[in-house]
Amino acid sequence: MVKYKGKTVYNGIAIGPAAVLKKEDRKVRREKIQDPGQEMDRVREAVKKAREQLQQLYDRALASAGEASAAIFEVHQMMLEDEDYLEAIENMIKKERVNAEYAAAVTGDNFARMFADMDDEYMKARSADVKDISNRLIQCLTGGEGESFDFKEPCILVADDLSPSETVQMDKDKILAFVTVHGSANSHTAILARMMNIPALVGVPADLNGIRPGSRVIVDGMRGEVIFDPDEAECRLAQERLEKEEEKLRLLQELKGKENITRSGKKIRVYANIGGPGDVGYALENDAEGIGLFRSEFLYLGRNDFPSEEEQFQAYRQVLQTMGEKKVIVRTLDIGADKQADYFNLGKEENPALGYRAIRICLKQPDIFKTQLRALLRASICGNLSIMYPMITSAAEVKKIFEILEEAKKELEEARLDCRVPEQGIMIETPAAVMIADELAQLVDFFSIGTNDLTQYTLAIDRQNEKLDDFYDPHHPAVLRMIRMAAESAHKYGKWAGICGELGADLDLTEEFVKMGIDELSVSPSMILPLRKRIRELA
Ligand code: PEP
Ligand code: MG
Repeated sequence: MVKYKGKTVYNGIAIGPAAVLKKEDRKVRREKIQDPGQEMDRVREAVKKAREQLQQLYDRALASAGEASAAIFEVHQMMLEDEDYLEAIENMIKKERVNAEYAAAVTGDNFARMFADMDDEYMKARSADVKDISNRLIQCLTGGEGESFDFKEPCILVADDLSPSETVQMDKDKILAFVTVHGSANSHTAILARMMNIPALVGVPADLNGIRPGSRVIVDGMRGEVIFDPDEAECRLAQERLEKEEEKLRLLQELKGKENITRSGKKIRVYANIGGPGDVGYALENDAEGIGLFRSEFLYLGRNDFPSEEEQFQAYRQVLQTMGEKKVIVRTLDIGADKQADYFNLGKEENPALGYRAIRICLKQPDIFKTQLRALLRASICGNLSIMYPMITSAAEVKKIFEILEEAKKELEEARLDCRVPEQGIMIETPAAVMIADELAQLVDFFSIGTNDLTQYTLAIDRQNEKLDDFYDPHHPAVLRMIRMAAESAHKYGKWAGICGELGADLDLTEEFVKMGIDELSVSPSMILPLRKRIRELA
């Protein structure tokens, strides 16, 4: 039995078998082989296995995100069976007498480079697909679980680190909890875990080589503790805590259908944060009054090319229709920093959090932005949509956004496609936006305060840097004063102000937020009912 402490990301308890994800294991070695025929049999077997995995991914994506999103896995299946690609692997095995993994890796690199060097933008973007396919093939050859996250049984995932794009690919029903050696509690991977109600710990100094796949693990988010190979007594105690936790959750269910209202009659809207259509179920199950933050960039992650206008339209429509008359606030693309997708070709930056990200990409590459805006304007007629823009620092940015939106609307009207310009707001997540909130409030319909980035930029602390987690203090008076300033500016011009950063779910601050006159709190679905309980207790 080994116990470790870590940083809690989500407060639940889980008991289950370990699945170990070791990324360094995927480095491929060159080995001499005797029998090329046998090596080719291995390739054929791996292709078959990869094809089955892709079919499963296709089926799952079809069910959760629709035909357009699933199509990429169909394309991968076709590329996997490309004759030139397989012939190149075979030639290398035969001529150089090397192992299949090495031949697949080198061929994959060569093909990816060939695509990357092409002039056509579409073909260039296929380079990432080729890499993805080769990685899958290598993974099937080595027999590892790899990044497919295709676990047969629900398990506790133990890894060095997980990126947001890996996390979005996980089948939420198969992950009981996750534990990572690295990672900050403020990262988007952590936010995803909270959104998915998955108990999670980061910064756990475990040695992955010492963990037997399938061995029992207890993850206790409440205590910030993980136990590998627990004895019977520990298991019994954890089981008791789990049952108590379930009982608490059952009691919270009684709050369903009740209002978010203080004892003195002040109402606050409590909305949910989601990452895609697949999360709407959690929001509704937890009685969300609306969606306060749909992080649309997650539609762009875990894939190899930009989602088309049609794909995005379908995703937004699905969420809007499922939510009915309830408000859905879609935040436009906030890619960059820790949320990376290869096909954006963003390049390496010294300071990515201060770099080319979010609205800056959208304003510099308006074609990408316009595709999203067109999809949103079209989807707007399907429900109660609001659009929100991230990382705003100036009034000029907002004015430029409105110009691009106007162009998108004109294009749609010329194409005779139904559309509507909905309510539009901005995120207040930079100190600059707070300082000019008076001016910004006159341009937009609402503010949503992003306390995660506002804390990062106010305190000059990289939210991704795990070494700085002790210094990252969203309760800092500077941050709280900024929230108050932003809310006051919004109200001065008759606009509403909400909080969609993680601080909105901090029950120790609920009273203060109510006193500030915050109109809406948007939190991960699992925090809706605890927040309702807290609001109803307030005088
Ligand atoms: C924030 O910064 O508070 C926010 C809600 O956006 P994200 O966490 O996605 O950066
Ligand atoms: Mg942010």
